[in-house]
Amino acid sequence: MELKTSYLAKHVRTLQPSGIRKFFDATAGLTDVISLGVGEPDFVTPWNVREAAILSLEDGYTSYTANAGLLELRVEISNYIDNNYCVNYDPESEITVTVGASEAIDIALRAILDPGDEVLVVEPCFVSYAPLVTLAGGVPVIVESMKDNDFKVLPEQLEAAVTDRTKAIMICSPNNPTGSMLSKAEMERIADIAKKHDLLVLSDEIYAELVYDELYTSFAAIEGMQERTILVSGFSKDLAMTGWRLGFVCAPKEITEGMLKIHQYAIMCASTMAQHAGLEGLKNGRRDVAEMRKSYRQRRNYIVQSLNEMGLKCYKPEGAFYTFPNIESTGMDSETFATRLLKAERVVVVPGNAFGASGEGHVRCSYATSMAQLQEAMTRMRRFVEKL
Ligand code: PLP
Repeated sequence: MELKTSYLAKHVRTLQPSGIRKFFDATAGLTDVISLGVGEPDFVTPWNVREAAILSLEDGYTSYTANAGLLELRVEISNYIDNNYCVNYDPESEITVTVGASEAIDIALRAILDPGDEVLVVEPCFVSYAPLVTLAGGVPVIVESMKDNDFKVLPEQLEAAVTDRTKAIMICSPNNPTGSMLSKAEMERIADIAKKHDLLVLSDEIYAELVYDELYTSFAAIEGMQERTILVSGFSKDLAMTGWRLGFVCAPKEITEGMLKIHQYAIMCASTMAQHAGLEGLKNGRRDVAEMRKSYRQRRNYIVQSLNEMGLKCYKPEGAFYTFPNIESTGMDSETFATRLLKAERVVVVPGNAFGASGEGHVRCSYATSMAQLQEAMTRMRRFVEKL
C-alpha cells in the first residue's frame, strides 16, 4: 500500500544529508582512487590500546558501566586535562564518557537549548554542528569566518550576531575543515563576548593533541571561562580510534547532570571494552600520539608546499590534519573542481561548501594518508591543474 503522507517529522524531512557523504558516493566502483577526503587517521589504533580491549573481553567485562563511564576512566580524563591544559574537572560530577565527540555535542546541545534558542555556529565547520542544533530545537545562526584571516572568526563578527535568544557559541579549534587554530589572545577576546552577553561556549577540542607549532590552550583554561564552557573531546583523532566510538564531555555540574539524563535514557553508557581501551590510551598512549603527530607535521609541511607550488593558495594550518586550499584561480566552483579532479585523476578531495557556504572557493584535502599516497596525489593534482 502506498503511503500518502510522510511519517517523518518536518524538521527531519528538511534536514540535508552530509555533503561529504554525497560526494563519497560518487567514488563507488572506481579503482585506483587516492582519497584525501577522509577525516580519520590512516594509522591503526596503537597495539597496547587494542590489547586492553581484548583483555577487557577476556576478563569478562561484558556488562554496562556507570552511565557516566568507568570512574577510573573519568579520573584519568581529569588528570589528562589537568596535566595538559591546567583545568581541573571533578571526575564524579563534571565528566561524562560518550559515544564519540559526536554524542557529546548532541547531548550538550539538547541539554542547554529551549525551542528557538540561538547558537552561533562559526562556518566553515564540522558538518554536524548546524543540523544538531536544529535537531535539538535550536536555531543555528551562521557566522562566516574570514578567508583573509586564515578562517579565524573575529570577535566583532560574533558580537554582531548576538540577540536576546543567543545561548551559546560553538567553536572548533583546531578546526575541521580549515586546520586553523585560535591563539590564546583570540580566545580571550571571544571569551569577553561570552561573558558580556552571558553565553556558553561549546568548545570542540577533538584536535587539541594534533597541534604542530604552538602550545594548545583549552577554552576552559581562559580566565572566568570554565564555568561557561562545555569542553568536548575524544579518542578518535589523536589515538586513531574512530571506529571505537569513544569521547567525553566536561562541563559544570548542573550542565553535566542535564547531559547525563539524556545520555542515560538514549545511550546508557559507552561501550565497556572501548572504555578500557581508552583508559590504556590515556595512561600509556602518549608516545604513540607523539609519533603520529610528528608524521602529520611532516605531511602537512609537504602538502602545503606542494599545493602552493601548483598555484592553489594555501595557508599553513596549525593543527588537525586538513589543508583548505583556495581553488578560485582555476575558475571552477568547489564542487566542479572536486568532481572533475576525481574523474580526470582519481583523487578525492571534499568541496569546501560541504562545510558551509563560506567554504566555497576551497576544497578540503586531508593529509591523514601515507606520504607515498600524498606524493602521488600531489603529482596527479599538479597534472590536473596544469592541464586547465
Ligand atoms: N568534531 C570534529 C571537529 C570532527 O572533525 C569530528 C570528526 O570528524 C568529530 C567531532 C566527531 O568525532 P567522534 O569520532 O569522536 O565522534
